[in-house]
Amino acid sequence: MKYLVQKFGGTSLVTPELREQVARKIIAAKDEGYAPVVVVSAMGRQGDPYATDTLVKFVEGINSSISPEALDNLMACGEIISGVTMVATLEGQGHKAVFLTGGQAGIITDNGHTDAHIVKVDPKLIHQYVSERVIVIVAGFQGQTENGMITTLGRGGSDTTAAALGVALNAEAIDIYTDVDGIKTADPRIVENARTLDEITYNEICQLAHEGAKVIHPRAVEIAMQKNIPIRVKCTFSDAPGTLVTASYDKRVEIKRDRIISGITHIPNVTQIEITTSEFPSSEYPQLKIFKAMANAGISVDFINIHPDVVIYTVKDDIAGRAVGLLEDMGFAPIVTPKCAKVSAVGAGMAGVPGVMASIIEALVAEDIGILQTADSHSTIWCLVKQDDMEKAIRALHNYFALGE
Ligand code: ADP
Ligand code: MG
Repeated sequence: MKYLVQKFGGTSLVTPELREQVARKIIAAKDEGYAPVVVVSAMGRQGDPYATDTLVKFVEGINSSISPEALDNLMACGEIISGVTMVATLEGQGHKAVFLTGGQAGIITDNGHTDAHIVKVDPKLIHQYVSERVIVIVAGFQGQTENGMITTLGRGGSDTTAAALGVALNAEAIDIYTDVDGIKTADPRIVENARTLDEITYNEICQLAHEGAKVIHPRAVEIAMQKNIPIRVKCTFSDAPGTLVTASYDKRVEIKRDRIISGITHIPNVTQIEITTSEFPSSEYPQLKIFKAMANAGISVDFINIHPDVVIYTVKDDIAGRAVGLLEDMGFAPIVTPKCAKVSAVGAGMAGVPGVMASIIEALVAEDIGILQTADSHSTIWCLVKQDDMEKAIRALHNYFALGE
């Protein structure tokens, strides 16, 4: 049996008309001879009646300190409502369909309530229903511990569910349906003429996703690439081919060798912290002390530059106060720059190409954008800028590298 995993995001499921479109995509896959295994998110976004945030706000209004175990039971409801609604839609059109929770679909996780990791997938119920020619709808974003407790998989969890099922079922592809045409050269909400990429490598999309492009969750990409299952990012509301994510674009190398940058992405709301360590004797290992203190406090650090006398790094704005407090308690005098944004240029084609950094600086300087920090790898260049300059910086880089339509 040829399995096809199809994942539909929350915005694709909010109205009856949209759910009809979703049903059409599922039935089209079935008509093409696939066994569709459909993963759904909760319907809508924040504020919509059955969206996860709405359910959480409702209970937090009664008691804001419920346990993570209880919270997981609550957060799993949105996808259950959504999945059963899709079964009703499909059966209303005469197609046999069944709904499975994450646990029933065989998704077993660790005990990390509210941000659990999948430890194994045993899709025997899926195989059974598929052999009876029933369309299987699975609740995204959730699993079950070995002891039968419901867990949720954290941000972007439905993408992760789809990828894990794609691997477990050895699917032909994992289709991620969303509200845009595919993976674009930048967030279309910021760059109007962002272009949809036909193809992208797992590595590039991982970098884009880690650096803020929320169109797909990086964990999902990492899972799919373990078994080389192709991912296609497509639009629920159109027949556009979308973006194909695969291990390499060998086929294309001859034709499009000139693609140095594939996309520009961004992470807002970060604070830069700069600490002079020269007053501290090196025998006290001040650099080690700083990062141990952050680690012990569970503060995740990014954009780390260590020089002999200076340590620079970033943290999320909302935990910056705590990080700075810890540093001051230890006798450091950090220089703090809040409200910054990390803007990244990603492209496998930049490896070994001289002058990419110079081009990036030229593009930003021409727009009068101050660069607070940079770092680079073989496929990404990161720049820290003031948040007020973020959108201007994204557009400047997008234009400079002519990434638009
Ligand atoms: P879903 O509910 O379908 O999972 P998401 O909101 O998680 O949808 O992801 C889709 C959104 O990702 C788009 O509406 C778009 O604004 C945003 N996005 C950010 N960067 C990109 C990018 N490079 N390409 C495409 N979409 C992007
Ligand atoms: Mg998403």
